[in-house]
Amino acid sequence: MLSTMQDVPLTVTRLLRHGSTIHGTSQVTTWTGEGEPQRRSYAEIGSRAAQLAHALRDDLGVDGDQRVATLMWNNAEHVEAYFAIPAMGAVLHTLNLRLPPEQLAWVVNHAADRVVLVNGSLLPLLAPLLPHLAPVEHVIVSGPGDRSLLAGAGASVQVHEYEELLAGKPESYDWPELDERQAAAMCYTSGTTGDPKGVVYSHRSIYLHAMQVNMAQSMGLTDHDTSLVVVPQFHVNAWGLPHAVFMTGVNMLMPDRFLQPAPLAEMIESERPSHAAAVPTIWQGLLAELTAKPRDISSMKQVTIGGSACPPALMEAYDKLGVQVCHAWGMTETSPLGTIARVPAGVGADEEMGYRLTQGRFPAGVEARLVGPGGEHLPWDGESAGELEVRGPWIAGAYYGGAAGEDFRPADKFSEDGWLKTGDVGVITANGYLTLTDRAKDVIKSGGEWISSVSLENELMAHPEVAEAAVVAVPDDKWGERPLATVVLKEGASADYDALRSFLAERVAKWQLPERWAIIPAVPKTSVGKFDKKVIRRQYADGELDVTNLSDQG
Ligand code: ADP
Repeated sequence: MLSTMQDVPLTVTRLLRHGSTIHGTSQVTTWTGEGEPQRRSYAEIGSRAAQLAHALRDDLGVDGDQRVATLMWNNAEHVEAYFAIPAMGAVLHTLNLRLPPEQLAWVVNHAADRVVLVNGSLLPLLAPLLPHLAPVEHVIVSGPGDRSLLAGAGASVQVHEYEELLAGKPESYDWPELDERQAAAMCYTSGTTGDPKGVVYSHRSIYLHAMQVNMAQSMGLTDHDTSLVVVPQFHVNAWGLPHAVFMTGVNMLMPDRFLQPAPLAEMIESERPSHAAAVPTIWQGLLAELTAKPRDISSMKQVTIGGSACPPALMEAYDKLGVQVCHAWGMTETSPLGTIARVPAGVGADEEMGYRLTQGRFPAGVEARLVGPGGEHLPWDGESAGELEVRGPWIAGAYYGGAAGEDFRPADKFSEDGWLKTGDVGVITANGYLTLTDRAKDVIKSGGEWISSVSLENELMAHPEVAEAAVVAVPDDKWGERPLATVVLKEGASADYDALRSFLAERVAKWQLPERWAIIPAVPKTSVGKFDKKVIRRQYADGELDVTNLSDQG
C-alpha cells in the first residue's frame, strides 16, 4: 500500500520562500571592517536572489544544471548566491579560496563551472588562473577590489559587476518545480591525498540536514538568536547554517574577510551574537586575543566547534568565559553534521564534561557502525576501536565523475554495501556517543600498539605554556613508528622539553611518551584551518625540523 500523503519535494526553493517571507525581518549583517556593517533583511535577500536568478538566466544564459561557482567570503551576496543558484535549478559550486591555485583550477575545470561569482578582494587569486579555466565564460565581481586585474582576462570571458547585473531586474522569479533528488550544490574535499573529490548535495539532502542542524539536540537556535558564521561558506556549506537559518529566522553575522582574532572579537562585542561556529584554530586565536585584550563577549551563549578535535583545555577556557562549547564531528561527505555532543539526560554534573568532550551522539538520520581490521563489525561498548562507517540521507554515496566520467565509489571510501568509510578511528558507547581516537592515517603504530596522536596533543595543549601541539608518527628502527611532538609555545613561555615530557608523563602511559620533540613557530594548517600533519611528516623527513631526541640524552 502506498501512503496517502502529498509528495511535496524538499527543496532549497522552499527554504528561500519560507525564510524570505515568514522570517522576512531577520537579518544578515556583514562586517565591513570600517564604519557601519552592511545590514540586509531576509526579505531583501529573497528579492535580490530573484534578481540574481534573472541575471544568470536572462543575461548570462545559465540553463539546466550548469554550474555556477562562488569564490567568496561569508557575506550577504554569498547567501543570495546560495539560494538563487539551486532554486533556479543550477548547481552552486563553492570554491575553497585557500586551495593551492593548481587545485583550484583543477576543481573548476572538473566541475565545468560556467560562471564564477567572485569577491573583488579575491581577484588577485582568480585573475592569474582565468587563462587556465576553460569552461568559465562569465566572471561576476562583487564588493571592493581592483577590477583592473581582470584586464587581461581575454575575449572568451565576459566580466560583469554584481550590482549592475541585479539593478532593475524583477524582484520575484518564477522558480521551477524541481526534483528533490536533483543536484543543488557541490563541494570538493580538500584533496589531502590525490585529486580533490566532488561531493554533490541534493535539494533533499540539504533540506533534511538543515532540519537536523535546527533540532534542539543539535544547534537548536531560533529567531531570537544571532549566529556568527565563521566557518566559511566554502567549507561544507558553512556546516549547513545558511540553509538552517532560513528555516528558523536565526540572524546571521558574517565576518567577510575579517577573520583575524581582533576583528572577530570586535564584531562579537558590538553585534552581540549568541552563537558562533568555527574550527578549533579560530577559537584558539580568539582566546589568545581575549586574554591579551579582554572584550565583552557576554552575548555568546553557545559555540559549535568541529572540523578537528576540540582540545579539552580549549573547552574549559571558554567555559570560564561563560561560553558553552558544543563539539561536533562531520566531513564534506556528511553534509557535514554526523554527531553532536549534547549531554544526555540523567547524568550528574561530574559526568557532563566526559560527554561534552566526545565527538557527540548520532542523530536519527545518521546510522553508524564500527569496522575492525578484519572487516568484522565491532560492538558499541565504548572500548572496541574500529573505523567508523556511516550512512543516511545526507551522507555521500559516491563522488562526482566530471563531464566525461561516471560518478565513482573508490573501495577505500565506500563499502561494498554502500556505507561511507570515514577514515576515522574511534569507539562508540551503547548510548551512541562517538569518541574518535584518530584519523586512520594519523594513528601512531608503535610496536603493535596504537598511540592516539590526538590524545597526546590534547594533554600537551593543557600545559599552561603551550599554545598548540601537533603529534605525528615518524619511522623508528625499533618500534616501527614513534610519536614526534611538535609544540608551539605561548609568547614569552620558557618550558623546555624535559618539563613538557614530565608534564605528559603524569598523564599518559610511559610507553606513549614521545622521545622526539621540536619547538616550532606555528603548526602548519590545511586550507580549512586543520593541523596539516602531512606537512610536518614531510618537514621531518626532509630534516627541516630542529628535533631533540631525549632518548639520545640518556
Ligand atoms: P578534510 O578531509 O580535507 O579535512 P573535511 O572537512 O571533510 O575535509 O574533514 C573531515 C574530517 O575532519 C573527519 O573525517 C575527521 O577526521 C575530522 N574531524 C571533523 N570534526 C572532527 C572532530 N570534532 N573531532 C575530530 N576530528 C574531526
